[in-house]
Amino acid sequence: MTANESSIITRLFEGQLNYSIMCLKCENCTYKNEVFTILSLPIPSEYECSLQDCLQCFFQQDTLTWNNQIYCSFCETKQETAVRASISKAPKIMIFHLKRFDILGTTKRKLRTDIHYPLTNLDLTPYICPIFRKHPKYNLCAVVNHFGDLDGGHYTAFCKNSVTQTWFSFDDTRVSEIPETSVQTATAYLLFYSCQPFSIPIQKCKS
Ligand SMILES: [Zn+2]
Repeated sequence: MTANESSIITRLFEGQLNYSIMCLKCENCTYKNEVFTILSLPIPSEYECSLQDCLQCFFQQDTLTWNNQIYCSFCETKQETAVRASISKAPKIMIFHLKRFDILGTTKRKLRTDIHYPLTNLDLTPYICPIFRKHPKYNLCAVVNHFGDLDGGHYTAFCKNSVTQTWFSFDDTRVSEIPETSVQTATAYLLFYSCQPFSIPIQKCKS
C-alpha cells in the first residue's frame, strides 16, 4: 500500500515512529521514520508490571554493539550506535500488543504477567516527539483476551459501548454486560486506546 492510499484502517490506526540513530564515536545523528498500526510491547516482568513499564521498555534507548553495529557515513565504518524511538504521529486509536509469547533459547512459553493498564487518561506524552504532541490522553475502548497457551487457546473481547459508556464481554456467541472493574485482567493480550470520544456516525446525505 502506498502512503497516499487511505482506508478506515490507516485513518484510525496508522501512526509513525521516528528513530534517532546516533553514532557513539562522532555523535552524528540520523533519523528514520517507520509507519505502524500496532506496537508490540516487551513485558519486563514474569509476575506483575504496569503498561507504563512496558512502554518505558519499548521506548528506552538501545545501544547496538558488536555484530549489531551500524555503518556511520561520517566515520565511514561500522560503529557502536545508540537508537531511540519516539512517536512522530500518534494514531487516533493506539493498539498495543503485549508480547506474552516468548522464546528463551529453544523453550517457548507464555508470560502470564498481570499487567496493570489504566482505563482512562493513558499519558503517552513522554513518548511523543515534543513538536507532534496533539492528543496526549488516551482512553481504553477495547481489550482482546487470550486464554490457554502456545499450542491452543481461546480469544474473547471486551468492548466499550461509546453511547452508553458501558462495557460488554464478547465470548463466541455469548455477549454480556460487565462491570468496569472486570475490564482489568491478567489475560489481556491486545489493548485498544482511543484519543477521542466516539460519536454516533452521521449519515451523509447526497445533495
Ligand atoms: Zn560516526
